Amino acid sequence: MAKFAVTPSNAAQREAWVGGTIPEVERVRPGLWSVPVPIPVNPLRYVLVYVLELPGGVAIVDAGWNTDEAYDALVAGLGVAGYAITDVKGVLVTHIHPDHYGLAGRVREASGAWIALHPADARLLRERYDDEVVDTLVRRERALLRRCGVPELTLDELAGASMMIRHVVSMARPDRLVEDGDDLGLPGWDLRAVWTPGHSPGHLCFVSPSRRVLFSGDHVLARITPIVAVHPQSGPNPLADYLDSLAAVRKLEVDEVLPAHEYRFLELAERVDAVMAHHDARLAEIERVVGAAGGGVACWEVATRLTWSRPWETIPPFMRRSANNETLAHLVWLAAKGRVVRQAGEPELWHAP
Ligand SMILES: [Zn+2]
Ligand SMILES: [Zn+2]
Repeated sequence: MAKFAVTPSNAAQREAWVGGTIPEVERVRPGLWSVPVPIPVNPLRYVLVYVLELPGGVAIVDAGWNTDEAYDALVAGLGVAGYAITDVKGVLVTHIHPDHYGLAGRVREASGAWIALHPADARLLRERYDDEVVDTLVRRERALLRRCGVPELTLDELAGASMMIRHVVSMARPDRLVEDGDDLGLPGWDLRAVWTPGHSPGHLCFVSPSRRVLFSGDHVLARITPIVAVHPQSGPNPLADYLDSLAAVRKLEVDEVLPAHEYRFLELAERVDAVMAHHDARLAEIERVVGAAGGGVACWEVATRLTWSRPWETIPPFMRRSANNETLAHLVWLAAKGRVVRQAGEPELWHAP
């Protein structure tokens, strides 16, 4: 990881993150609040929901995970800002991951708010969370993992690893589809959507040019980099999408980045450069591993030979799957640039050119 460290724009929020606690509900600036909403059993601990004051109510950016604890925290946070859940007019969802989208349906039920989502994520909803079709998704994931050379014994465990979180997501259909460049039409806000595919195909950031803030969702975070992986619902080259999306937000002129996790910070362009450098280093490492293999090597095998934040043997199944699928995203990117060669088969093998 590149060594650049951002300047947190609220020291207390950063200290809460570093200290393992949940930060306070805060007024970020006039008419704008940050409400931490807890995520169960997850090292990210909370999602930062932003509350945007409107005449006669509020809109929120992201909603939180669909649990009673999260719902209560959201209601309490709105209360600190002087609002009730029934005051929510709109829910702007950055992407369909359960920590952002999960609670949107319950908020709509309580308030009649509309839910806005990018069409590329809205398309994935049925397959992702509907019981009738979810088996298809597990089958496709299994086929993908087999192609990556995942050992037969671990296949089932890995393919179904994300299914346990499915039940906490309520099946809300969006009321509004938001495209790149759309003005959200919130009274008092010049809020524009920036489509930033990569972490998810329909990921959205929202920028306010007059207030000079960027709601960055999971796209750009202070310390961590979001997972960018090939999976049955990703685009064919999600890392290319992600790096293009980073370049797109780098150009925005903002003073403060308001991410969905960790803490908010000041330097957008520098942070984007650091994330790009991180992926450059990862790409170079993967290219070296493929070269050193001296013949065709499967994606899973490449993943086991990379440096991770802890030894491979101690990484739990769900994270190994992410690690494999992230490695695949980098291999696909390298192949598109001619830096590695892909050989079809089962498993599919990767060679030096
Ligand atoms: Zn996410
Ligand atoms: Zn997230």
